[in-house]
Amino acid sequence: MRRPDLCSSCGIPLYVGKMHQWSGDGVIIHKVMSRSNVFFMESENIDAVFNTLDRELGVPIENIIMECTRRGNRRFMEQNIPAPLRWMLSYMPRLSSGLISYAGKTLGFGSSEFVGARRRGDEKDCLVHIIHDPYSLSSMLADALGVTEAFTGQDGTVEGLPLGGDSYLVVMRTGEHRTGLEERLQLIHPPVKTIGYDLPRCEKCRLPLELSARYRWDMRKGFILSKASGRRMVITGFDNYEAVFREIEEEIGEGISQVIVDAQREFVLHSNWDENWIESESALRINLMLRGLGYLSSYFQDGEHLKVTILNCLIPKQVVGMLQGFYELDSGKDSSTCVWSVGQEADLQIELS
Ligand SMILES: [Zn+2]
Repeated sequence: MRRPDLCSSCGIPLYVGKMHQWSGDGVIIHKVMSRSNVFFMESENIDAVFNTLDRELGVPIENIIMECTRRGNRRFMEQNIPAPLRWMLSYMPRLSSGLISYAGKTLGFGSSEFVGARRRGDEKDCLVHIIHDPYSLSSMLADALGVTEAFTGQDGTVEGLPLGGDSYLVVMRTGEHRTGLEERLQLIHPPVKTIGYDLPRCEKCRLPLELSARYRWDMRKGFILSKASGRRMVITGFDNYEAVFREIEEEIGEGISQVIVDAQREFVLHSNWDENWIESESALRINLMLRGLGYLSSYFQDGEHLKVTILNCLIPKQVVGMLQGFYELDSGKDSSTCVWSVGQEADLQIELS
């Protein structure tokens, strides 16, 4: 395994700060692809919310998730690695798999090993990996497929066969996978307001000091873990999932917003948290900023009501559900009233009572 290159000051893998900027505007910017919004989230959140949607809506949404993630990754690689280099890497599967596995570990995706490959440029080509402890199995299969398609320049298929524990044999082949969703799942990027809040930062890698204070990177397993609770985190382009939600909205109607809010609220209510996010203005601001969920610009709490405005909130439905969950945990209420709205510029207003 490649030796992890860690920041000599804060100890976080250098790759994290080289590729991402935790901005003072409440968003995490991918430095190479600046229009791709990134989030730092509790990893079990991702599948938990999708499983709830599956259950509540009775619509299997795995196809939609896979398509969004696959396409996002393929496009990312195609835009950032020149075609001749991608073509060369497609004939060096052990090397390219090692590089991708390393990047994935720094982001908290879990670990993967190269097993074997056949690459002769025909329809029998395949690439086989084993992945361990994926942060989300369907997202990781789609990640792997998107990267492989970008390298080979051909569409492919992927399957993950359980090996026991949380390990899977991943087999990618050349072939059609068209879902009919390609044109429909488009990302939307609202403009980000400049705020420039001054987060204390590592003098070497410029990542927020709060990241290294709260989390540790286990580069053997590919985990990012909360030091306080051991809970696993992942750095991922969660806004792909906004496209997923919009697609479901088209199929099912607007009621989906409430289902997403409720799924996220349920997740908060049934998880253990290191900290009550809404305990104070500063606690909420830093918890939102570390996750790329926006900048808290106003906060009012009188024991009965909680009223907040969050600027640059790119996944508002999730944030509404999270804050409603924390409000109910904090107040001890079984239910609450939540009124929320999003303005033209991704400014989210929430009032809870
Ligand atoms: Zn550092």
